[in-house]
Amino acid sequence: MVVPAYNEAGALAGTLDMIAGQLAALVPHYEIVVVDDGSRDDTARIAAACAARLPVTLVRFSRNFGKEAAISAGLQHARGDVVVCMDADGQHSADLIGRMLALWREGWDMVYAVRDDRAQQGLLNEVGSRLFYRLMNLGGRLDIPPNAGDFRLMDRKVVDALLALPERQRFMKGMYAWVGFRSVGIPYTPLPRAAGTTTFNRFNLMRLAWTGLTSFSVLPLRLASLTGLALSTLAFAYGLFIVIEKLLLGIDVPGWPTVVVSIMFFSGVQLLFIGILGEYLARVYEEVKGRPPYVVAEVVTPARPAADVRE
Ligand code: UDP
Ligand code: MG
Repeated sequence: MVVPAYNEAGALAGTLDMIAGQLAALVPHYEIVVVDDGSRDDTARIAAACAARLPVTLVRFSRNFGKEAAISAGLQHARGDVVVCMDADGQHSADLIGRMLALWREGWDMVYAVRDDRAQQGLLNEVGSRLFYRLMNLGGRLDIPPNAGDFRLMDRKVVDALLALPERQRFMKGMYAWVGFRSVGIPYTPLPRAAGTTTFNRFNLMRLAWTGLTSFSVLPLRLASLTGLALSTLAFAYGLFIVIEKLLLGIDVPGWPTVVVSIMFFSGVQLLFIGILGEYLARVYEEVKGRPPYVVAEVVTPARPAADVRE
């Protein structure tokens, strides 16, 4: 199991007990990798305390690097033949682990849980997420299943493929889809948070969506090229029209509003697309710096590693 946790002191112990209770009945050997993503509360201490009685490995980051980095670190430290990734806040029902394992034994390489809570979502979030998935799946060959998050089971093959991807901006939703493999979704309804509050407000979600879009799709750039092409074609046609009008009908070039409006319009479009270009440049810059996606401050291994964990 991989469990990313950021300020989850209130919920973590309960979640780990719930996972352990499920897994003890399902598999002979297991381990839980808790990644403390630079929490400012007692999360690390609670996870370390759990490591005394459960097969919990704690990977503590030097600061908050974000959920995507935390999952990558968890996958890096997980040693199982099969890995399930789950939130620390108790929103992901551990009951689903059994069904995921059953599907894995049937031969599926990846089993993802698909959120089924459209009623709870506000209209704005609903529209935003629809737009996001539409755009993501429009440009490329990727097929990212809507409303499927990080709650998923992965075969060792999938984990190794994910770990082999060298990018530093790790947009997991896109990476799961990119590596491929035989995947199947199962619906689930998220439970209420056991404690604490979500870190993903609208602003963070929009930032994540933009990272995803620019990391996995060149659609915005292609849009810029197409708009440029369309506008220059129009401008050329209009220019031709004015010349012909002047030559054949002798009508003088009238008023300046057209000039002002078109200058404003075209400079706006240009600025917009220079901005988009800049976003991609920023992405390239992030990658080219070659910094690691996270820094591990310490790793706490369970008190009885050999007893419960696969050798
Ligand atoms: N999380 C994390 N790093 C962060 C933010 C969140 O590891 O910077 C973890 C968090 O502890 C939780 C999971 O990611 O286990 C999902 O976060 P949250 O519950 O805030 O998101 P939501 O469920 O609202 O999508
Ligand atoms: Mg949550």
